[in-house]
Amino acid sequence: MANCIFCKIIAGEVPCQQVYSDDLVVAFYDIHPVAPIHILVVPRAHIASVNELLPEDEPLVGRLFSAARQIAWEQGIQDSGYRLIVNTGPHARQSVYHMHLHLIGGQPMGFSMG
Ligand code: AMP
Ligand code: ZN
Repeated sequence: MANCIFCKIIAGEVPCQQVYSDDLVVAFYDIHPVAPIHILVVPRAHIASVNELLPEDEPLVGRLFSAARQIAWEQGIQDSGYRLIVNTGPHARQSVYHMHLHLIGGQPMGFSMG
């Protein structure tokens, strides 16, 4: 997808600090971390948001969570805990319209979910 920053990262045209890669998913550090560990788990395929998911994407969605789980273990935060956040649309302040999981951890978080 032209002009999609995450597609450019996946294509190797924009650098990133990659922490995970498989045939369906890549993960890299967020450039503006909100916690000591802030990693984006991103499908290789351009899917703009959760709104654009199709029934045939169900294996991909499962893989995103499996990748997040593996990364959490590699980062050593499986027991201390972490948040997985998927912002969707304007009210959620989605800023990159290439769907992604935020994996956030490494410190206790606030009570607010919104
Ligand atoms: P969202 O607001 O949920 O769409 O999240 C987009 C995230 O992408 C933000 O947390 C940004 O800091 C992050 N981001 C934007 N551009 C880059 C980039 N080139 N490398 C890594 N993270 C990025
Ligand atoms: Zn994209």
